[in-house]
Amino acid sequence: MAKKKTRLIQNKDGPFYVDSSCINCGSCWQINPQSFLPAGNNAYVFNQPKGSKEVYQALLALIDCPVGAIGAPKTITQNCALDIFPIPITKHPAGEVFYCGWSSRLSYGASSWLITRPEGNILIDSPRSSPELAKEIKKMGGINQMILTHRDDVADHHYWAKTFKCNRWIHIDDSDAAPASETKVTGKTELQIGRQFKLIPTPGHTPGSMVSVLGDKEQIVFSGDHLWWNPKKKVLVASKEYCWWDWNEQLKSVEKLLGLEVSWLLPGHGYAKKFEPGEWQKAVEKTLHYGESKNRRKTHCH
Ligand code: SF4
Repeated sequence: MAKKKTRLIQNKDGPFYVDSSCINCGSCWQINPQSFLPAGNNAYVFNQPKGSKEVYQALLALIDCPVGAIGAPKTITQNCALDIFPIPITKHPAGEVFYCGWSSRLSYGASSWLITRPEGNILIDSPRSSPELAKEIKKMGGINQMILTHRDDVADHHYWAKTFKCNRWIHIDDSDAAPASETKVTGKTELQIGRQFKLIPTPGHTPGSMVSVLGDKEQIVFSGDHLWWNPKKKVLVASKEYCWWDWNEQLKSVEKLLGLEVSWLLPGHGYAKKFEPGEWQKAVEKTLHYGESKNRRKTHCH
């Protein structure tokens, strides 16, 4: 619960605020860039929501916040239903994609995504344990497979595995973070899991990082912390600053994704991005070029 007495001074006057317990995970400004912005070591409300639609968006951020750092008066929060997640992101012939919200402090507020499809639903990374979210996911058909993109974003995987008896996938090189996972992926070769869904090992950020790809065309890529979008600079970010294992391996893993035909990038951290046809290859090439040419001089790529 956010505390009014620790309300940050950067917040614009008005009912919504961020308090000093913010860990700057980015969930609020990723889900609601109309009201929240980063400011160095924390987020703040730069634009108070107006009207029911904007208030709803701000309440999504309030529920999503992993540390309860977003506050608003009871007169607003008392009308907030806790069943508002998952929220729809996009529909693909291979499945419908939802953002789960309920970010976990254990994964530093990483995003998790639910794919619903007739052959069984897939959860990408772990939201925090939440009976309200579990109830909604149950109504949507539960979870058959759970993909853990890398060691940092496993959060409350035990809770989701127990609740839905789903099969957890993690790369063996990151599996000490979730040793109870039922399936360990080995090697660097991509792995097809049923129809129109595959895993691509992309070592670099961590030794066992993997991206998941939904669809054969107009693909949706769930990138964990391997890549994300920077809307200000309009570039795909592969971060050397936040590379915990091997930066040169990470660049090689970025190159592996050049041949994809991507319509959406949905990362663990950082902004999501919808791509127009042909835009993905150019963006990957730009990132690779920048990463290779500035490798020695820059702390991170873009
Ligand atoms: S979601 Fe919460 S912890 Fe994360 S940046 Fe926003 S206010 Fe801070």
